[in-house]
Amino acid sequence: MTRHDEISENLAKVQERMAAAAKKVGRTLDEITLIAVTKTFPVSDVEILKSLGVTNFGENREADAAPKAATIAGTWHFQGQIQSNKLKAITSWAHVIHSLDQLRHFEIIENIAPRSLGIFCQVSLDGAQGRGGLQGEKLYELAQKVAQSARHKLLGLMAVAPLGAKPDEAFAELCTIHKAFIQQFPEANQLSAGMSGDFEQAIAHGATHVRIGSSILGSR
Ligand SMILES: *Cc1c(COP(=O)(O)O)cnc(C)c1O
Repeated sequence: MTRHDEISENLAKVQERMAAAAKKVGRTLDEITLIAVTKTFPVSDVEILKSLGVTNFGENREADAAPKAATIAGTWHFQGQIQSNKLKAITSWAHVIHSLDQLRHFEIIENIAPRSLGIFCQVSLDGAQGRGGLQGEKLYELAQKVAQSARHKLLGLMAVAPLGAKPDEAFAELCTIHKAFIQQFPEANQLSAGMSGDFEQAIAHGATHVRIGSSILGSR
């Protein structure tokens, strides 16, 4: 089987599963953006995805992403851990950042981003150090700053299910957090949640953006 056929089959399966998960809870696929996570995969794979109609691509490392984003037109999402000294590079190619969790990173973005960005603030569902995300007041403080920005747009919240947690419970909690959040930030009505292992549960709990890598492109 050619790489094209392999990716095409995997993509079709993922799209079917997304549609079924959406239908189960009375949602439709057009409410849900599929971000193909192309990290570690070559630009030739991104080209194939593009030829199959995918227009949203996700990356974690700026050095890996820049040449792909320069080659393939689309909406490019950054979802990795942010390092201050990489923000200039990240904002040179990314259109959407999913993993903002520090005020000082947003201040840098305000100073250096060459374009207007869509921003998700990352929530930590278990408060664990090291996997990113904020909780409670700190999350609201950061969101307030983004919401006040004249240039960048607060889109919503992003989370990953904690290690060892049941995705269904984790995303139910995320949904509750998001409902409270949009009371204060009504425009931030997007929810970035769900990866290869748990996107169906994320869709059940309202995800508007799923970030899927290995189910489409294979194991890394
Ligand atoms: C790598 C990654 C994904 C995609 O993961 P898969 O399990 O390959 O689908 C999604 N979100 C984040 C934050 C990631 O780092």
